Amino acid sequence: MTCISENLFQLNQQITDAASRYHRDPNALTLLAVSKTQPVESLREAIEAGQRHFGENYIQEASQKIGALAHEDLVWHFIGPIQSNKTKYIAEAFQWVHSVDRIKIVERLQAQRSSHLPPLNVCIEVNIDNEETKSGVRASEIIPLAQKIVSSSNLKLRGLMVIPKASETFEEQCQPFRAVKVLVDRLNQLGFGLDTLSMGMTHDFEAAIKEGATILRIGTAIFGSRMNSPARDCAN
Ligand SMILES: *Cc1c(COP(=O)(O)O)cnc(C)c1O
Repeated sequence: MTCISENLFQLNQQITDAASRYHRDPNALTLLAVSKTQPVESLREAIEAGQRHFGENYIQEASQKIGALAHEDLVWHFIGPIQSNKTKYIAEAFQWVHSVDRIKIVERLQAQRSSHLPPLNVCIEVNIDNEETKSGVRASEIIPLAQKIVSSSNLKLRGLMVIPKASETFEEQCQPFRAVKVLVDRLNQLGFGLDTLSMGMTHDFEAAIKEGATILRIGTAIFGSRMNSPARDCAN
């Protein structure tokens, strides 16, 4: 086994174990391999090992990989900050975008997504810690944005995404995820019909599984540290 396939094997095992520990259906969890800064060869190794969903943060880098892997049956997710001059490529080449945080972006994606393609799956990024410096909308601003997405025929509102601030203990990691679950439940009481909670990264995915995550966005545990080559993180 290559390093990446071994990492994926172990990670999928940890995800299954956590799902059973917290009484979650493992089939309700999607592993999104976050491949930013990784070369296309690393993605090929992950694909060989059965990985299908990939997350990218930078348009230029993503377009090279999406082009190189066009013959593969993959699902591409854009998870990085969205500059408005980059929405066209997101609308054309991705199946999901997790980081929508303003009306202007919704309008551009709606205009640029071809009606001949399936609707672009959209998550709203929530700033759950109300940090000044962070991207994402505050809880109080979600509803107007959600309504705008729902009224956009080329987009499909799927749920919420969160990147909480780092915390030390498992219980601290759970808190923001639990708060996002409460928001999704509230939106669903209003009839939004959301089925997606995009939360949990390498250091906190078990807490996210406990609190109801459906998409885990994981990079380091699969590809190794982004500073080093993956091989250096592996024994073989
Ligand atoms: C980089 C990134 C991840 C993956 O982080 P890891 O700690 O490497 O698992 C997940 N989500 C977003 C939005 C990211 O930018």
